[in-house]
Amino acid sequence: MEFDLSKKHCYYFKAISDIPRGSRNEKAVSDYVVNFAKEHGYKYLQDEVYNVIVEKPASEGYENFEPVMLQAHMDMVCEKNKDVEHDFEKDPIDLYVDEEGHLRARGTTLGCDDGFGVAYMLAILDDRTLKHPPLQCIFTVMEEIGLFGAMALKKEYLHSKRLINLDSGSEDKTIVSSSGGARCVISRKLTYQPNESKTYTLQIRGLKGGHSAGTIHLELGNAILLGSRVLEELNEQFKDLRLVDINGGMKFNAIPREVDITFTTNTDTDELNKKAEETLNKIKSELQYSDPDFKGILTETAKADRALSTQDSKDIFEFLYVIPNGLQHRSMALDISVASLSAGVIYIKDDTLYLDDLIRSAEASHGDLMIRQLEILCPKFGFEFEMRDRYYGWAYSKDSGLREILRNVLKEKGVELKESATHGGLECGIFKGLIPDLDIITYAPISSGAHTVSEMLDLGSFDRTYENLCKVLENCR
Ligand SMILES: [Zn+2]
Repeated sequence: MEFDLSKKHCYYFKAISDIPRGSRNEKAVSDYVVNFAKEHGYKYLQDEVYNVIVEKPASEGYENFEPVMLQAHMDMVCEKNKDVEHDFEKDPIDLYVDEEGHLRARGTTLGCDDGFGVAYMLAILDDRTLKHPPLQCIFTVMEEIGLFGAMALKKEYLHSKRLINLDSGSEDKTIVSSSGGARCVISRKLTYQPNESKTYTLQIRGLKGGHSAGTIHLELGNAILLGSRVLEELNEQFKDLRLVDINGGMKFNAIPREVDITFTTNTDTDELNKKAEETLNKIKSELQYSDPDFKGILTETAKADRALSTQDSKDIFEFLYVIPNGLQHRSMALDISVASLSAGVIYIKDDTLYLDDLIRSAEASHGDLMIRQLEILCPKFGFEFEMRDRYYGWAYSKDSGLREILRNVLKEKGVELKESATHGGLECGIFKGLIPDLDIITYAPISSGAHTVSEMLDLGSFDRTYENLCKVLENCR
């Protein structure tokens, strides 16, 4: 299998691979699409964040059919091997085809996520022989760092009730639901007092962690909450614990694997160890099948010269003991999580404690419920609650005209369409938030290794999926 640049979708994949396009660096590729639209005489819109929408009129006889939106993101994740010299601001992606007919990049991410979607749209725009209703091709930015491009789209730009997202799914698979998200920042101002007591650090280690969308239903331990649980149970017995520092988690959208909590107490060290051991053993038993390498290490450390009051410390330990976390709801129609919260990162900066919590839900109502729960709970323990960057989910709907069209196109080739759902966030959810009765499918060629240097695109599938996509458009009557 060669990478045949006489095929339009291959030609455009190569063209955009030559343009550096990491997230927040999309101006050049965005301008490329704009110039393409100008050269082809298409109406286009480029907004202030560099999203581009290009309109292609209906082919003959399709003028009166409901328009279709196609959508893909222009940005890519920039990862490389340590020993590879590559400047993601300047250098083109170095493409090659391996022995199995897979397109790959030498030493870097390939960017087929979501380069294949961008290439498909440009190929469709460039081919006047195709049959289809009026098309709006939507090229978004900053998908990989939080769906920010899609969030900037305005409802008045969009003229259709049908959307084909070209970023997820596969050659024989479409996504039917995704979750929305709300990033919440919970904070509390801290007042320190001098300390004369012994100081200890509890370290939670050995947990698996994972992306908080895909693994939230797997009973994995959350280091922040497990460490806080030990502290609350110690304080319940000894009453004099004072918090010095707490630090855990790396990413707001991952389950934290480690936490360090430093505190002071006058309790006898043996007594303290015995009680801590008791709670740690309970947790170990609870996690024996899901997170068997869990461990907690309590050690005496250098005496801290300041700590919070016992009352403030108690508030914080209790808050982290009662805050809802983890899986809240599963769908009874699909085998998938549809509502969850996950405490991701905790730290103290400038005498303020911060906790990053991520709420995910397919149904807006579940999101509203969890947000309200935190809003009520936080002030009871002296915390402030702030919600940032909320976007809506895409709840499953049994009926979808587009899905039936795709199903029939595949059936003619003897392929059965598979359906799948994700608890992660997709740009589809943002479109659904703007147009509540939007019909959506996702469609993509076979690829793997997204966001890593082993990212690859199956070239055979790249061709077949393009053919199927054009057939779907032809059947959008
Ligand atoms: Zn993507």
